[in-house]
Formats: sequence, structure tokens, C-alpha cells
Amino acid sequence: VEFEHCGFPATLNGNLKKAGYEAPTPVQMQMVPVGLSGRDVIASADTGSGKTVAFLLPVIVKALQKPSHGERNPVALILTPTRELAIQIERQCKELVKCLPNMRTALLVGGMPLPPQLHRLKSSIKIVIATPGRLLEIVRQKAVQLDKVSIVVVDEVDTMLKMGFQQQVLEVLEQVPEEHQTLLASATIPTGTEELAARLVRDPVRIAI
Ligand code: AMP
Repeated sequence: VEFEHCGFPATLNGNLKKAGYEAPTPVQMQMVPVGLSGRDVIASADTGSGKTVAFLLPVIVKALQKPSHGERNPVALILTPTRELAIQIERQCKELVKCLPNMRTALLVGGMPLPPQLHRLKSSIKIVIATPGRLLEIVRQKAVQLDKVSIVVVDEVDTMLKMGFQQQVLEVLEQVPEEHQTLLASATIPTGTEELAARLVRDPVRIAI
């Protein structure tokens, strides 16, 4: 699968090219078509494999298809365990959505001041990239609503578990409508990770790199 054969809008193809992503990596080759088909995915893919772009492309396509629900109401949610990862994911996402209509992102992460994050949510946003604790804090303040989310990414599920975020991840997912697509990425999938993964996905396609 080449990116040009995925049926992406020309702007997105142009952004991929500008970012230097000419040919898909193996995880992208497997994950992008399955993600685009609407199926849930469990991918064992490590940092460096290109997993971020692999989950971002289905997220971006879905977010483009969904109407904007205005302020505080994202249609896509990307959960990741650390601030650093969240910042990297948002950077790659912004690169890919450049010049696409109504594709604003919000970064909701701990260890950074809360007021600018709340302010950002007061305009129409499509994609939220978050760490679990800060997201829950903002959900409790009703500054973000997850009831229009139709695609969820849980990145680095194994690290989420190691950092003790299992309950928080499950609590976040309770806020998302039952009918949604889930893409999971994890470097390794030991038993504990498998158990959490099983609670998050429905009839998943498994991808191992
Ligand atoms: P990740 O595994 O998501 O952390 O990505 C590792 C690095 O690979 C990042 O710096 C990406 O910018 C880069 N990358 C992702 N996809 C591609 C691609 N198709 N071609 C070249 N580089 C890529």
C-alpha cells in the first residue's frame, strides 16, 4: 500500500510528502488500511516504527468526515502516557493536518499550566491529544465533553500500565460513546497488557511488526 493509493485528500498527500513520508513503514502498511476500514486494532509496534503516523492517518480521515461539534467536543481522542509523547504526537498531527479545514487540535497534558489548555477548548476542536490524569481533571470541570468521540487511540498501553494509569484510562473510556473505533499501540503485549487491551477493543485486528 502506497499513501497515494489510500484515497486521501490531495492536501493530506501533499502534507505527507512535505513531511518526508514518501513510502509507508511496515506498521503503516498494515495499520492504515485496517484503521481506515473502521475495525479496531491492537498493534505491537515500538517507538521508531512509524506507529504515530500509522494511527494518525485513520484518526485524521475520520475527523475530516465527522461534522464539527463546536467547542469542547472533539471527535477524536489520542491518549498517551507522557507529556513528551503527547507533544510529539501533536507536532506530527499538526504537520499532517496543515491546510485541512476545521482540524484544530488540543493538547491536554499534566505538568503544564491548565488555563491555556482550558482556553484552547473554547474554540472548535476536532482532535484531543491527552495524558489520562489531566484529561480526567478537565472532564470533571466539564471543560471538555467526550460524547461525540468516534475514534480513540491508546498509545503505549504497556507504559500506561507500568505508570499505573489503567483505572484512569478505563475511566476516560467510560465517557466515550459505546459505538467508537479503538486503535491500540504497545511495544510489547504481556499478559497484563493483553487484559487491559481486551477491555478496550471489540473484535480487533492484530498487527505485529
Ligand atoms: P514513531 O515510531 O511514530 O515514533 O516514528 C518514528 C519516526 O519516523 C518519526 O520521527 C517520524 O517522523 C518518522 N516517520 C514516520 N513515518 C515515516 C515514513 N513513512 N517515512 C519516513 N519517516 C517516517
